[in-house]
Amino acid sequence: MMTVKSSSLGYPRLGEKREWKRALESYWNDGSSKEELLATTKELRLASLQKQADAGIDKIPSGDFSLYDHVLDTSVTLGIVPERFKYTDGEVPLETYFAIARGNKDAVASEMTKWFNTNYHYIVPELDNARPQLTFNRPLFYYNEAKNELGLETKPVILGPISYLKLAKGYEEDQFETLLTALIPVYVQIFAELEAAGVKTVQLDEPYLVLLTDKKELNYYKKSIAAFKEAAPSIQLILQTYFERLDHYEAILELPADGFGIDFVADHGDNLRSLLQFGFPEDKILAAGIIDGRNVWRSNLKDKLALLTLIQANVPAERLIIQPSSSLLHVPITVAHETTFEKTLVNGLAFADEKLHEIVLLTKAVRDGVSSIQTELDDSFEKYTALQKADFRNNQTVEAELTSIQGEEVNRALPYAERILLQHEALNLPLLPTTSIGSFPQSAVVRQKRAAWKKGNLTEADYRSFIKEETERWIDIQEGLDLDVLVHGEFERTDMVEYFGQQLSGFQASTFGWVQSYGSRAVRPPLIFGDIAFEKEMTVEETVYAQSLTEKPVKGMLTAPITILNWSFVRDDITVDKVANQIGLALRKEVLALEKAGIGIIQIDEPALREGLPLKEERWKKYLDASVYAFKLTTAGVKNETQIHTHMCYAEFDDIIDTISALDADVISIETSRSHGDIIEAFEVHTYDKEIGLGVYDIHSPRVPTAEEIKQNISRALQVFPPEQFWINPDCGLKTRHESETIDALKTMVDVTKEIRKAY
Ligand code: GLN
Ligand code: ZN
Repeated sequence: MMTVKSSSLGYPRLGEKREWKRALESYWNDGSSKEELLATTKELRLASLQKQADAGIDKIPSGDFSLYDHVLDTSVTLGIVPERFKYTDGEVPLETYFAIARGNKDAVASEMTKWFNTNYHYIVPELDNARPQLTFNRPLFYYNEAKNELGLETKPVILGPISYLKLAKGYEEDQFETLLTALIPVYVQIFAELEAAGVKTVQLDEPYLVLLTDKKELNYYKKSIAAFKEAAPSIQLILQTYFERLDHYEAILELPADGFGIDFVADHGDNLRSLLQFGFPEDKILAAGIIDGRNVWRSNLKDKLALLTLIQANVPAERLIIQPSSSLLHVPITVAHETTFEKTLVNGLAFADEKLHEIVLLTKAVRDGVSSIQTELDDSFEKYTALQKADFRNNQTVEAELTSIQGEEVNRALPYAERILLQHEALNLPLLPTTSIGSFPQSAVVRQKRAAWKKGNLTEADYRSFIKEETERWIDIQEGLDLDVLVHGEFERTDMVEYFGQQLSGFQASTFGWVQSYGSRAVRPPLIFGDIAFEKEMTVEETVYAQSLTEKPVKGMLTAPITILNWSFVRDDITVDKVANQIGLALRKEVLALEKAGIGIIQIDEPALREGLPLKEERWKKYLDASVYAFKLTTAGVKNETQIHTHMCYAEFDDIIDTISALDADVISIETSRSHGDIIEAFEVHTYDKEIGLGVYDIHSPRVPTAEEIKQNISRALQVFPPEQFWINPDCGLKTRHESETIDALKTMVDVTKEIRKAY
């Protein structure tokens, strides 16, 4: 009997205890053979498939697994290997596969960039001189493996040709159609072989459909899908989208796919509105993404059932699939290992496995009636409600303070042009002041001491005094270098978000909550589970100590609200804007405490501002306005004489210069080397009136820059900015560099600056 089905779009690769990461790294570091790597990862892959089957998922994805990245998998499947890796034909060797991702002694790696608005990074395909050909039918391999080893009928996941091309580089826009025409036959062959193997459903991921603006582009989708259907008429082809709403909803639903995967979570309600307004074609399947694939919270299943009722009014159960809103790649695997959390919190979480359970329950409710899941529903709702009602989510003091701060208090007392004069007087810095971005090398010794302290092998007092010694040593070094504005060095911090997360209330670091960031690299975003509140001073002691050692100004150093937000899993029961403001309010207290303790310059880093931009441009303004508000809430309480700095990196900033200016920071430092000077050009057309330091050397390379290079970078910037407005600093923090490199580079930077000053 045809009835509602449950499905999943992709499962995390890492392994519950990061076994995948360890297998890869051990292979790369010559600790294990290729056979061992393939055996371990196969075991993990099969275990994940079996787990999804045991959970009761009807349509289990295969081929979502990867040894590095699924976009790279698509490239090597299609025979798209950059020429420098000297690939000729046949299956792409594993060594070549990893070389594209990581580089080797003869060739640099391909570029890596963010996967849509997630923190996952993919390997950018390079299409220069591409000659697409099927090297190895990877989707078929994974499908057969699941079938033969586990007896499971799975659903191959394939990244579609249009999104693949749009994710790639190395071609001009007018070549798009030619390239697509060259790719389609390769995909057709994949589909034909899948059909011959008995595949029943394919999930064709075309996430770029959510960014479709030009309706004419629908022809590309139409052409490719029609070709696949012709090659594989009996395969049910689900065209999968995620991360946003579909524009041109009706036209998209006319594409010749058998079904459409639509996100009902990250769509701001728009997809549901389209469904209710335009309905759904009678001969198509709706794969409804209704459990959030990007966040970690237990769902309100009653709300989800209500949503399903609305959906079912347009799509009967036999044409409905219930699934997460996106691949579960973006969440940790299971809550089961989080044994240290308090009960209300742990019960309020749902990682990948728990989300699959929710999917299965909802599917059962549609199939057999809500009463068939009544016990589980009540239990889940109770846990959900307990989290919402918890005291830590209902801090009345924070609420009252937030409402009372408005208007004047989020603006500095005097406008920039007037207060900067007072700051000049108070700080008395030379022309073209020199400074660094905050962190100094986290040397092996620093890491050893921290590890020993965490293990209990070093007392708190000894650890603290070590941090102080290291700070003192680096204050001496900075004085020796004759830098103008010093920093304490951030030796007490492992990570710029975690450090604040550990000290503000409302945060929780997870133990096994790892998610893949790129390749084998995993991050463990903290959970913002409750109202954020300031509890105690977080940076005052270290900063004041550093300041006590020198006559020169030492900058206070904080992480700004949006960066904290974008690098965490954020509660979804209140708006993110409100969470940002709670963080802003807490940090405002830290800023004022630093000022009160005599710190005259405070830097609040906002490196992740740009990466949080919504996918759809129409949502940018709201996001940017809210970011500006939270930043000003953090900073605007200080006296006119106190100088507020900020810092940004990891991205190109040329299109958000107005926002950068609206932050109203007195001084900003921006990473410059990675935007290849575009940012300087952007400042030629956009006037920017506040002080600025465009990084004068790249900190990502161990290479010490030459005086000539630094001089050129400064001269270039001084064609755009008058010297009175310009600061001299590296691109970003120096925590990953070695001590000698750091000192040599900074020395060159200061010497060059002194020479340039003479000309004025
Ligand atoms: N202050 C931080 C540091 O110097 C900034 C890091 C960053 O921008 N990513 O490390
Ligand atoms: Zn930076």
